[in-house]
Amino acid sequence: MEMETPFQTANMSSVLVLNVTYEPLSVVSMRRAVVLLLKEKAEILEATEREIRAANISLPAPLVIRLVYYVRVPHRVLVPFSRKTVMMRDKHTCQYCGAQPARAELTLDHVLPKVRGGLNTWENVVCACKACNNRKGSRTPEEANMPLRCVPQRPKYLAVVVLTSQGAHDAWVKYIPEMGDDLVGISI
Ligand SMILES: [Zn+2]
Repeated sequence: MEMETPFQTANMSSVLVLNVTYEPLSVVSMRRAVVLLLKEKAEILEATEREIRAANISLPAPLVIRLVYYVRVPHRVLVPFSRKTVMMRDKHTCQYCGAQPARAELTLDHVLPKVRGGLNTWENVVCACKACNNRKGSRTPEEANMPLRCVPQRPKYLAVVVLTSQGAHDAWVKYIPEMGDDLVGISI
């Protein structure tokens, strides 16, 4: 299967593709999904009421399809590192105190401060409220006695694919266990 670029902007006609194992794989256009269905490479798991016509047949407009064959998941699909993707990974929650202030009140904090050689990486940057960021200053979490709530890591690729899409459909949620309800439909 040809994967479309994972970071395309999805819309309401985007379709979630699952592996034969039901593992979420990708998000493709409606057109691509229909081709997979017509070639009998995939089956429909969820669809809308709407019918679409293709190649002299009509079929329900798919929302979720499942491949009938196994696709090896590429190992090196990298989620772009940015303020927005870090905020999404941390669910717009301060990683020190757990607060969820208004988005404008959230900052990015370097766990090992930049002035002390801390890098701009998934492992060293977390979401922090302004108060915690100021309090921590140029100290490490240990020095400031401000333990992190989670170990910061590169996020899983699919969660970001879905979150990046403008039209993540409710029907997708049950197939994506790590995706909480509160994250559905957030666009970046
Ligand atoms: Zn805080």
